[in-house]
Amino acid sequence: LNVTKFQNEPNTDFSRKKYRDDIKQALKDVEELFGQDYPLNIDGKAQDGRAHIVSRCPFDKELKLGAVAAASPEQAEQAIAACLRASTQWKKVPVDHRAEYLDLIAAEMRSRRFELIAWMVYETGKPWVEADAEVSEAIDFCRYYALAMRDLDAELRCDYPSEENALFYRPRGVAVVISPWNFPLAILTGMVTAALVTGNTVVMKPAEESSIIAFKLMEIARDAGLPTGVLNYLPGIGEEIGPTLVGSPDVDIIAFTGSREVGLEINRQAANPESQQNGVKKVIAEMGGKNAIIIDDDADLDDAVHGVVSSTFGFAGQKCSACSRVIVLKNVYDTFLERLTGAIESLKVGPATDPGADFGPVISQEAYDRIQDFIEIGHEECAAIVNVDLSEELPNGYFIGPHLFEVQEEHSRILDAEIFGPVLAIQKAKDLDQALQIANESDYALTGGIYSRSPKNLERARNEFLVGNLYLNRGITGAIVQRHPFGGFRMSGIGTKAGGPDYLQQFMLPISVTENT
Ligand code: GLU
Repeated sequence: LNVTKFQNEPNTDFSRKKYRDDIKQALKDVEELFGQDYPLNIDGKAQDGRAHIVSRCPFDKELKLGAVAAASPEQAEQAIAACLRASTQWKKVPVDHRAEYLDLIAAEMRSRRFELIAWMVYETGKPWVEADAEVSEAIDFCRYYALAMRDLDAELRCDYPSEENALFYRPRGVAVVISPWNFPLAILTGMVTAALVTGNTVVMKPAEESSIIAFKLMEIARDAGLPTGVLNYLPGIGEEIGPTLVGSPDVDIIAFTGSREVGLEINRQAANPESQQNGVKKVIAEMGGKNAIIIDDDADLDDAVHGVVSSTFGFAGQKCSACSRVIVLKNVYDTFLERLTGAIESLKVGPATDPGADFGPVISQEAYDRIQDFIEIGHEECAAIVNVDLSEELPNGYFIGPHLFEVQEEHSRILDAEIFGPVLAIQKAKDLDQALQIANESDYALTGGIYSRSPKNLERARNEFLVGNLYLNRGITGAIVQRHPFGGFRMSGIGTKAGGPDYLQQFMLPISVTENT
């Protein structure tokens, strides 16, 4: 693949007052829109739902952002039927033309950047700077997949005397996209645009917690002129419409990003074709992580502290790429622990509208309770080094202070589960062998990192650290499209890397044609 023309979208330079003013204005403008209703969009028509999901702000529990229609199983069937109808035409639209829609979506996002950031701030509690990077990532997905698909459109030829051979790709048909709230725009846009540009029609089922942002993507796609029925907006409760979407004999692809539990359930259901179905569904699932950073005994500790803190506590740890285990070689353990403790204690937690806050709230009451349970387990099984309690200071949102637990015994349950919150476990290793062994003791294999000045040890990490995205001497979050194709293996995912050269092929069928000449 030769996506030579691709360039990453630059982030906003918030050191310039003009842009800080722009974002403040956008936050105000979006406030004016609170309280609206958001309908489904099936076959180009707005439809109300049987019930509504009230979208709330994680840093202000009382604030109702809007009411989003929740689709019924019948409406899920209607959306699939709309996809099936639209598919016949959409498959025939030339690749270049399909790719142009993605370019138009990217351009529209660029012009609505601050509005999109403001909605992410309010709906998910994501700090501005990170929401800004997310808009860039969404634009990158559109532009990268548009270019990649244009490249893939050329037939791969392999001719022999008296035999002409060609390999080309065909769309699979109907795709269901089920997306998470933690990257409510970028991951949704990535999966949706990949499915569209490869010639599939799409039912988009956003996470309950971030359905308004998904509505904005629907609006943008409509403004880009996407034909009716090619993309359908189907917010709803996963337990209610998920079985219809995943079980339908008319669905060919399920692209999912979210928890391991749901990902595995989708995979199980999809592997069990109904009698009317003429194939096995393709499942592309990005799931969790339990990611570790190793600190070698010759590491630059200032860099390492910074990398561990930002990878662990950025967006309150709610990234599947986040660090949740740090494994430190014994010679530097005490010094590193002291510096790390100081850095974590100085973190400021606050609403996402406050640019001085290092991180904001967690997404919901459910997440809050789950993380608090893990903090309790940490207290039972480990030594608490940092234990900041914010429940009284910031009562109006789902704020959880940063936590650092030292694992002293052999094991603790906080080393196994993906906590998805601001909780870090630190462990001591006697040498690099042991550090790598501990790092690899996980069901997951998504991201990992090592800080070391030894070329030999960095080389060992390259070969022996079992993760999909390995970072040497830097933080382990914030993968950038094309530069860091993103995705893992083991229980972290089924399928290949988002923003990488072989992502689109998953959405198509490779066909080989041989002509005897
Ligand atoms: N791609 C993101 C990163 O590199 C993580 C995506 C996720 O949390 O699902 O930080």
